[in-house]
Amino acid sequence: MADVEERWATASFEEKYKAMMASMTEADQKRSTEQVTYMCKCRTCPTYTESGDTNLAFCNQGKSAATQEQKGCLCSTCPMTKTMSLRWDYYCTQGSALELSDL
Ligand code: SF4
Ligand code: SF4
Repeated sequence: MADVEERWATASFEEKYKAMMASMTEADQKRSTEQVTYMCKCRTCPTYTESGDTNLAFCNQGKSAATQEQKGCLCSTCPMTKTMSLRWDYYCTQGSALELSDL
């Protein structure tokens, strides 16, 4: 069991994403998106607060239609970064983790 936990903790975003997609129903995915939105730190980020955007969780949802300028990113402090082994930032201007990944 400890082995499984350790393997999961050190797995890449690509490995975690594929494993999750293989086991999640549509309802699970909707719940997961809601959880990401709840945890999301974007609402206190300078890039976000000056953009006027009301959407969140850009690592999951993709680029913001409102955000153009990068003024600092809090993604490295967000629990999602560790949970999903995210290795990028500025998802609001660069696109979702899936789009930035090797998948
Ligand atoms: S990693 Fe960034 S975009 Fe994704 S939920 Fe966290 S703060 Fe929001
Ligand atoms: S993705 Fe990063 S830069 Fe963009 S709003 Fe979220 S925390 Fe701020």
